[in-house]
Amino acid sequence: MSEENLNPFAMAQEQLDEAARRLGLDRATSDLLRWPLREYIVRLPVRMDDGSVKVFRGYRVQYNDARGPTKGGLRFHPAEDRNTVRALAAWMTWKTAVMDLPLGGGKGGVTCNPKELSSGELERLSRSYMGAVARMLSGTKDVPAPDVYTTPQVMAWMMDEYERIAGEKHPGVITGKPIALGGSQGRDDATARGGIYVTREAARVQGIELCGADAAIQGFGNAGQFAALLGADLLGLRIVAVSDSRGGIYNPKGLDTLALVRHKRETGSVYGFPGSDDISNSDLLELDVTVLFPSALEGVITSKNALRINAAILCELANGPTTPAADQILHERGVCVLPDFLANAGWVTVSYFEQVQNAYNFYWSLDKVQRLLDERMTKAFHDVWAMRQQEGVHLRLAAYLVAVRRVAEACKMRGWC
Ligand code: NAD
Repeated sequence: MSEENLNPFAMAQEQLDEAARRLGLDRATSDLLRWPLREYIVRLPVRMDDGSVKVFRGYRVQYNDARGPTKGGLRFHPAEDRNTVRALAAWMTWKTAVMDLPLGGGKGGVTCNPKELSSGELERLSRSYMGAVARMLSGTKDVPAPDVYTTPQVMAWMMDEYERIAGEKHPGVITGKPIALGGSQGRDDATARGGIYVTREAARVQGIELCGADAAIQGFGNAGQFAALLGADLLGLRIVAVSDSRGGIYNPKGLDTLALVRHKRETGSVYGFPGSDDISNSDLLELDVTVLFPSALEGVITSKNALRINAAILCELANGPTTPAADQILHERGVCVLPDFLANAGWVTVSYFEQVQNAYNFYWSLDKVQRLLDERMTKAFHDVWAMRQQEGVHLRLAAYLVAVRRVAEACKMRGWC
């Protein structure tokens, strides 16, 4: 099968197989880790605004909970299907494990197009989903969070529905809530901030100077905008190029990141930013920069362009931007690829902090959240770097080895295999 048409769950299983082989896992353990422990498919009848009833299909996959309650986002998307949810749930399992959070991995979704739903229909769909899966969820069982096309408002409706069913308060049943309902400080920039911390560590161990070094960012949404702001602020990076779906801009002298964020907010795009030249998305990826942040789409770095990637550090804020074939090429060329499930784990880490604060009913300052995030990201990076040095493998495989070993050990100690 070519890397382009691999079903996502088959790809997740292939990655696990390689890690299991290298770790020498026994047959029972690798069989257990290749599949979700539990998966639910639910039918969701929803009253539409015109009085008709439409039945949607929803999923919740609890992939592995050996290390703690499963945790993972909930997507409302027309292409949502069982194998996508399974793959994302597997990746959440490795992500929480590589971060050494006391959590397992899960994922959920509803096959729907939220852009075609009114606010009332979206609320009824959210409540219907929670009604269908409530008995499978709790702060000690499985905790969803926002993901593609689900928002803090959707989380708030779902939490309210759960509490209505339970007859008591349970803010920790879901994370990514608005601050007013028990959300955590530090959520907004957590993904990019986590990526910036691991980039700092990757530069430190390789003796790469970041202050004044050039960086390029593909994608200028939540992850990309905060990567630009924090990359400049915390690391002293000079952001020379950024892009979004309308095109890219380039200025070798550096872009004013604050003005650029304002321009994007006002015009809807980075395109046409004063004082910059146009650059295509593919040329941006191939710029001679110290750090490249793919922050938009999956599959943008492939065997076709991997030989032309010139960055010293590639920090994957997007999920799945690099194909397996490209990974190998980049490794051989000495490009340091910070894999997505480490580089963008800042978000799930702050989600975990939200769960902890909900459990204590006591809330932390922004400073404290950022300090603890830095500690977690730094430790996770060094765990993975040590594995890379020990095994002589690329960082993605090293991250898998760290994560899979932790989950396998927890399964063994429980006597599951
Ligand atoms: P977003 O929707 O806020 O932004 C996406 C950006 O990508 C937009 O600026 C869009 O214009 C741009 N884009 C779309 N098509 C493009 C193209 N062909 N070329 C260049 N740019 C293009 O999304 P986000 O939340 O910033 O997420 C971006 C990536 O980061 C996704 O892969 C997501 O899964 C991953 N991620 C995000 C978070 C988070 O907390 N936001 C957490 C983990 C992972």
